[in-house]
Amino acid sequence: MAAGRLRVTIDGPAGAGKSTVASRVAAAFGLPKLDTGAIYRTLALFARREGVDWDDEAGLAALAARMPLAFEGGVGEAPLRVRLAGEDVSAAIRTPELSQGASLVSRHPAVRAALLPVQRRLAEGGVVAEGRDLGTVVLPDAEVKIFLTASAEERARRRRAELSARGEDQPLERVLAEQAERDERDERRAAAPLRAAGDAVVIDTDGRTLEQVVERVIEEVARRTGRSPRRG
Ligand code: C5P
Repeated sequence: MAAGRLRVTIDGPAGAGKSTVASRVAAAFGLPKLDTGAIYRTLALFARREGVDWDDEAGLAALAARMPLAFEGGVGEAPLRVRLAGEDVSAAIRTPELSQGASLVSRHPAVRAALLPVQRRLAEGGVVAEGRDLGTVVLPDAEVKIFLTASAEERARRRRAELSARGEDQPLERVLAEQAERDERDERRAAAPLRAAGDAVVIDTDGRTLEQVVERVIEEVARRTGRSPRRG
Protein backbone atom coordinates (compact mmCIF):
# COMPACT_ATOMS: atom_id res chain seq x y z
CA MET A 1 0.00 0.00 0.00
CA ALA A 2 1.41 3.41 -1.00
CA ALA A 3 3.34 5.02 1.87
CA GLY A 4 1.35 2.98 4.36
CA ARG A 5 -1.59 5.34 4.11
CA LEU A 6 -4.91 3.72 4.89
CA ARG A 7 -8.26 5.08 3.82
CA VAL A 8 -11.41 3.16 4.67
CA THR A 9 -14.75 4.36 3.28
CA ILE A 10 -18.09 3.47 4.88
CA ASP A 11 -21.14 4.41 2.85
CA GLY A 12 -24.81 3.60 3.19
CA PRO A 13 -28.26 5.04 3.85
CA ALA A 14 -29.34 6.92 6.97
CA GLY A 15 -29.45 4.72 10.07
CA ALA A 16 -27.37 1.84 8.68
CA GLY A 17 -24.94 2.21 11.60
CA LYS A 18 -22.17 4.01 9.67
CA SER A 19 -21.28 6.43 12.43
CA THR A 20 -20.82 3.84 15.19
CA VAL A 21 -19.00 1.43 12.92
CA ALA A 22 -16.71 4.18 11.55
CA SER A 23 -15.81 5.35 15.07
CA ARG A 24 -14.95 1.85 16.25
CA VAL A 25 -12.95 0.95 13.15
CA ALA A 26 -11.07 4.26 13.36
CA ALA A 27 -10.18 3.51 16.99
CA ALA A 28 -9.04 -0.02 16.09
CA PHE A 29 -6.59 1.26 13.48
CA GLY A 30 -5.60 4.53 15.15
CA LEU A 31 -7.07 6.65 12.35
CA PRO A 32 -9.09 9.86 12.38
CA LYS A 33 -12.76 9.55 11.53
CA LEU A 34 -14.36 11.83 8.98
CA ASP A 35 -18.12 12.34 9.15
CA THR A 36 -18.98 13.90 5.78
CA GLY A 37 -22.70 14.16 6.60
CA ALA A 38 -21.68 16.67 9.28
CA ILE A 39 -20.23 18.89 6.55
CA TYR A 40 -23.55 18.99 4.63
CA ARG A 41 -25.44 19.50 7.87
CA THR A 42 -23.20 22.41 8.84
CA LEU A 43 -23.67 23.96 5.40
CA ALA A 44 -27.46 23.72 5.83
CA LEU A 45 -27.15 25.48 9.20
CA PHE A 46 -24.79 28.12 7.84
CA ALA A 47 -27.18 28.79 4.93
CA ARG A 48 -30.10 29.22 7.30
CA ARG A 49 -28.13 31.74 9.35
CA GLU A 50 -26.92 33.64 6.31
CA GLY A 51 -30.41 33.72 4.80
CA VAL A 52 -29.48 31.58 1.79
CA ASP A 53 -32.27 29.29 0.61
CA TRP A 54 -31.69 25.52 0.54
CA ASP A 55 -32.83 25.64 -3.12
CA ASP A 56 -30.33 28.32 -4.15
CA GLU A 57 -27.55 26.27 -5.75
CA ALA A 58 -25.22 29.14 -6.66
CA GLY A 59 -25.70 30.86 -3.30
CA LEU A 60 -25.01 27.62 -1.45
CA ALA A 61 -21.92 26.81 -3.52
CA ALA A 62 -20.52 30.26 -2.74
CA LEU A 63 -21.23 29.71 0.96
CA ALA A 64 -19.62 26.24 0.84
CA ALA A 65 -16.45 27.76 -0.58
CA ARG A 66 -16.13 30.17 2.35
CA MET A 67 -17.61 28.08 5.17
CA PRO A 68 -15.46 28.53 8.30
CA LEU A 69 -15.68 24.85 9.25
CA ALA A 70 -13.36 23.02 11.62
CA PHE A 71 -13.37 19.52 13.07
CA GLU A 72 -11.94 18.74 16.46
CA GLY A 73 -11.13 15.35 17.90
CA GLY A 74 -12.51 12.57 15.79
CA VAL A 75 -9.43 10.39 16.21
CA GLY A 76 -10.66 6.95 17.08
CA GLU A 77 -13.58 7.16 19.44
CA ALA A 78 -12.96 10.66 20.76
CA PRO A 79 -16.19 12.59 20.24
CA LEU A 80 -16.10 14.58 17.10
CA ARG A 81 -16.80 18.29 17.55
CA VAL A 82 -17.82 20.43 14.63
CA ARG A 83 -17.18 24.15 14.72
CA LEU A 84 -18.69 26.84 12.53
CA ALA A 85 -16.74 30.10 12.86
CA GLY A 86 -15.47 28.84 16.22
CA GLU A 87 -18.91 27.97 17.60
CA ASP A 88 -19.49 24.34 18.61
CA VAL A 89 -22.46 23.28 16.45
CA SER A 90 -22.10 19.51 17.04
CA ALA A 91 -25.51 19.20 18.69
CA ALA A 92 -27.27 21.89 16.65
CA ILE A 93 -26.68 20.06 13.35
CA ARG A 94 -28.30 16.79 14.55
CA THR A 95 -31.94 17.91 14.49
CA PRO A 96 -34.45 16.31 12.07
CA GLU A 97 -34.80 19.71 10.39
CA LEU A 98 -31.10 19.83 9.55
CA SER A 99 -31.17 16.18 8.42
CA GLN A 100 -33.63 17.34 5.77
CA GLY A 101 -31.62 20.51 5.17
CA ALA A 102 -28.44 18.49 4.59
CA SER A 103 -30.25 16.24 2.16
CA LEU A 104 -31.61 19.28 0.29
CA VAL A 105 -28.34 21.21 0.05
CA SER A 106 -26.37 18.08 -0.89
CA ARG A 107 -28.42 17.37 -4.03
CA HIS A 108 -26.88 20.38 -5.86
CA PRO A 109 -23.90 19.45 -8.07
CA ALA A 110 -22.18 22.82 -7.51
CA VAL A 111 -22.37 22.33 -3.74
CA ARG A 112 -20.88 18.84 -3.98
CA ALA A 113 -18.12 20.12 -6.25
CA ALA A 114 -17.25 22.90 -3.79
CA LEU A 115 -17.08 20.44 -0.88
CA LEU A 116 -15.05 17.78 -2.69
CA PRO A 117 -11.60 19.33 -2.10
CA VAL A 118 -12.54 20.02 1.53
CA GLN A 119 -13.29 16.33 2.11
CA ARG A 120 -10.19 15.13 0.24
CA ARG A 121 -7.97 17.43 2.26
CA LEU A 122 -9.45 16.14 5.52
CA ALA A 123 -8.82 12.53 4.38
CA GLU A 124 -5.28 13.14 3.19
CA GLY A 125 -3.25 11.49 5.91
CA GLY A 126 -5.38 8.36 6.20
CA VAL A 127 -8.93 8.15 7.51
CA VAL A 128 -12.09 6.20 8.14
CA ALA A 129 -14.60 8.30 6.22
CA GLU A 130 -18.34 7.81 6.25
CA GLY A 131 -21.11 9.17 4.07
CA ARG A 132 -22.92 8.38 0.82
CA ASP A 133 -20.36 8.76 -1.97
CA LEU A 134 -16.97 8.22 -0.33
CA GLY A 135 -16.19 5.01 -2.18
CA THR A 136 -17.64 6.18 -5.50
CA VAL A 137 -16.62 9.85 -5.76
CA VAL A 138 -14.65 11.35 -2.87
CA LEU A 139 -12.05 8.60 -2.37
CA PRO A 140 -12.47 6.22 -5.34
CA ASP A 141 -8.99 4.79 -4.76
CA ALA A 142 -9.49 4.06 -1.04
CA GLU A 143 -7.79 0.89 0.15
CA VAL A 144 -10.95 -0.59 1.71
CA LYS A 145 -14.58 0.23 0.85
CA ILE A 146 -17.57 -0.85 2.88
CA PHE A 147 -21.27 -0.34 2.10
CA LEU A 148 -23.70 -0.91 4.98
CA THR A 149 -27.36 -1.65 4.42
CA ALA A 150 -30.33 -2.54 6.64
CA SER A 151 -34.09 -2.66 6.22
CA ALA A 152 -35.94 0.67 6.45
CA GLU A 153 -37.69 -0.46 9.67
CA GLU A 154 -34.46 -1.42 11.40
CA ARG A 155 -32.78 1.83 10.38
CA ALA A 156 -35.74 3.91 11.58
CA ARG A 157 -35.69 2.09 14.92
CA ARG A 158 -32.00 2.91 15.37
CA ARG A 159 -32.56 6.53 14.35
CA ARG A 160 -35.43 6.85 16.76
CA ALA A 161 -33.35 5.43 19.61
CA GLU A 162 -30.59 7.93 18.78
CA LEU A 163 -33.04 10.85 18.81
CA SER A 164 -34.66 9.70 22.01
CA ALA A 165 -31.24 9.41 23.70
CA ARG A 166 -30.95 13.14 23.00
CA GLY A 167 -34.34 13.78 24.57
CA GLU A 168 -36.18 14.12 21.24
CA ASP A 169 -38.92 11.53 21.21
CA GLN A 170 -40.55 11.02 17.84
CA PRO A 171 -43.13 8.47 16.68
CA LEU A 172 -41.63 5.66 14.61
CA GLU A 173 -43.95 6.45 11.67
CA ARG A 174 -42.61 9.98 11.49
CA VAL A 175 -38.97 8.84 11.62
CA LEU A 176 -39.75 6.28 8.90
CA ALA A 177 -41.45 8.86 6.68
CA GLU A 178 -38.61 11.39 6.99
CA GLN A 179 -36.05 8.69 6.38
CA ALA A 180 -37.87 7.45 3.26
CA GLU A 181 -37.97 10.98 1.87
CA ARG A 182 -34.25 11.44 2.50
CA ASP A 183 -33.30 8.00 1.09
CA GLU A 184 -35.28 8.61 -2.04
CA ARG A 185 -33.64 11.99 -2.60
CA ASP A 186 -30.14 10.60 -1.88
CA GLU A 187 -30.64 7.65 -4.24
CA ARG A 188 -32.29 9.52 -7.10
CA ARG A 189 -30.22 12.66 -7.33
CA ALA A 190 -28.08 12.98 -10.45
CA ALA A 191 -24.94 14.14 -8.62
CA ALA A 192 -23.15 11.39 -6.67
CA PRO A 193 -26.24 9.36 -5.76
CA LEU A 194 -26.13 6.89 -2.90
CA ARG A 195 -24.82 3.59 -4.24
CA ALA A 196 -22.23 0.97 -3.46
CA ALA A 197 -18.92 1.20 -5.33
CA GLY A 198 -18.32 -1.81 -7.58
CA ASP A 199 -15.41 -2.86 -5.36
CA ALA A 200 -17.17 -2.26 -2.02
CA VAL A 201 -17.87 -5.02 0.48
CA VAL A 202 -21.63 -4.86 1.07
CA ILE A 203 -22.73 -5.80 4.58
CA ASP A 204 -26.39 -6.21 5.49
CA THR A 205 -26.61 -5.24 9.16
CA ASP A 206 -30.15 -6.61 9.72
CA GLY A 207 -30.08 -9.34 12.33
CA ARG A 208 -26.51 -8.49 13.33
CA THR A 209 -25.43 -6.46 16.30
CA LEU A 210 -23.29 -3.42 15.55
CA GLU A 211 -20.59 -5.26 17.50
CA GLN A 212 -20.67 -8.07 14.94
CA VAL A 213 -20.60 -5.58 12.07
CA VAL A 214 -17.59 -3.79 13.59
CA GLU A 215 -15.76 -7.13 13.90
CA ARG A 216 -16.57 -7.99 10.30
CA VAL A 217 -15.23 -4.65 9.03
CA ILE A 218 -12.11 -4.87 11.19
CA GLU A 219 -11.40 -8.35 9.80
CA GLU A 220 -11.87 -7.09 6.28
CA VAL A 221 -9.45 -4.19 6.80
CA ALA A 222 -6.89 -6.46 8.48
CA ARG A 223 -7.16 -9.08 5.74
CA ARG A 224 -6.80 -6.61 2.90
CA THR A 225 -4.04 -4.48 4.34
CA GLY A 226 -2.12 -6.85 6.59
CA ARG A 227 -2.57 -4.46 9.52
CA SER A 228 -3.40 -5.61 13.02
CA PRO A 229 -6.14 -3.82 14.92
CA ARG A 230 -5.60 -2.58 18.44
CA ARG A 231 -7.89 -4.46 20.76
CA GLY A 232 -9.44 -2.47 23.57
O1 C5P B 1 -24.97 10.97 7.26
P1 C5P B 1 -25.94 12.06 7.61
O2 C5P B 1 -27.30 11.55 7.95
O3 C5P B 1 -25.42 12.99 8.64
O4 C5P B 1 -26.07 12.91 6.25
C1 C5P B 1 -27.02 13.95 6.11
C2 C5P B 1 -27.32 14.13 4.62
O5 C5P B 1 -26.16 14.63 3.96
C3 C5P B 1 -27.70 12.85 3.87
O6 C5P B 1 -29.08 12.56 3.89
C4 C5P B 1 -27.22 13.15 2.46
O7 C5P B 1 -28.22 13.83 1.73
C5 C5P B 1 -26.08 14.10 2.65
N1 C5P B 1 -24.78 13.46 2.45
C6 C5P B 1 -24.32 13.33 1.16
N2 C5P B 1 -23.10 12.81 0.91
C7 C5P B 1 -22.32 12.40 1.91
C8 C5P B 1 -22.77 12.50 3.26
C9 C5P B 1 -24.02 13.03 3.49
O8 C5P B 1 -25.02 13.69 0.22
N3 C5P B 1 -21.11 11.92 1.65
